[in-house]
Amino acid sequence: MKPLGPIPAGYTAIDGELAISGRKASELVAEAGSTPLFVYSRELLARRVADLRAAMPDRLALHYAVKANPFAPVLREMALLVDGFDIASGGELAMVRAAGIDPSRISFAGPGKRTDELEQAIAAGVTLNLESEGEAARALDAAARLGITPRLAIRVNPDFDLKGSGMKMGGGAKQFGVDAERVPALARLVIESGAEWRGFHIFAGSQALGPAALIETQAQTLALAARLADQSGAALPHCNLGGGFGIPYFPGDQALDIAAIGAALGEAFSKLPDVLRETQFCLELGRYMVGEAGVYLTRIVDRKVSHGDTFLIVDGGLHHQLAASGNFGTVVRRNYPVAIASRFDAPTEEVVSVVGCLCTPLDRVADKAEFPRAEVGDLVAVFCAGAYGASASPAQFLGQGPAMEMLV
Ligand SMILES: *Cc1c(COP(=O)(O)O)cnc(C)c1O
Repeated sequence: MKPLGPIPAGYTAIDGELAISGRKASELVAEAGSTPLFVYSRELLARRVADLRAAMPDRLALHYAVKANPFAPVLREMALLVDGFDIASGGELAMVRAAGIDPSRISFAGPGKRTDELEQAIAAGVTLNLESEGEAARALDAAARLGITPRLAIRVNPDFDLKGSGMKMGGGAKQFGVDAERVPALARLVIESGAEWRGFHIFAGSQALGPAALIETQAQTLALAARLADQSGAALPHCNLGGGFGIPYFPGDQALDIAAIGAALGEAFSKLPDVLRETQFCLELGRYMVGEAGVYLTRIVDRKVSHGDTFLIVDGGLHHQLAASGNFGTVVRRNYPVAIASRFDAPTEEVVSVVGCLCTPLDRVADKAEFPRAEVGDLVAVFCAGAYGASASPAQFLGQGPAMEMLV
């Protein structure tokens, strides 16, 4: 028997069924028309951002990293909740603009921005987080061709990384950002070009659950920003401190203590050096804002026994849930929080594996876990599905196509 990850707070049972935003799973599936289906809770999105606002210093702006979940209704909801949007492609730029979000609230990071993407972003008034000297030159050329003053920041490849993070994105040789020691020279070039100088973007990693590591990284980030701003010879208008806030996916994971992080940041803000005194700071968070607000619902289409092991086979799988299947940046496969949605408050009765419908042994939703007895037709819920589910899974694999999505 293998344990399941912790079910996030905010989910209840109504008539024995999982309810999301107070609506029963079966009702939501009936409304959507079929399974598999991602359901995102408006209430849980709002609660999460409110909790962040309460924990963090007032001075800190909150940005949403669109790649976690670019579903249009989610973007429109987030537009009411957060201060800014961070994108990483021209495709995301189009999605954010289609959601009616003002381009002045958008910043664009990501290596390998094509010239046409740079042009679209500059023309719209989006801030570019420059990833290299070469990209800076292409952006300045594009701006000159268009006759527009570009809004430019520099993404810094910090000389440290976020300890304990699931995905390290700083420290050492990286395809992201400009190595810290070369940043002052590039910053001077950007400032002297007459561009609107927007400061630094310093992102050191993702999915950290230890507050001590995040507090240490934020302190290092502030110290680095101060040093680089000094060496650039200009006060820093903006500084994106990155993010990296993780959510509990696996057995034993603890929810992040955001009060401790907010208190440490407030303390750090109270003793900033002069060069950062007027700086506007922001955090950019994807997973932490939307991950726990989403549930993936899929229906059991077969129940079979092989060599004594019972398999529940569902109509969804890794083509929508690559991370839950253990195939997206994990070393040892562990179970996500998974439940039988149609028997949400029933006692567990048997150890079974829930597998997807793809013709590959990689397609596992829950491995040898304890569930109430479930039959063909029952709904299975995979939690923590709000981030990197629909947006980061190979939906076209085996001709399956994307899942439906709804915000309730
Ligand atoms: C992926 C990414 C994020 C979001 O990471 P989460 O773990 O979802 O919070 C933020 N900023 C940058 C630069 C990223 O690449």
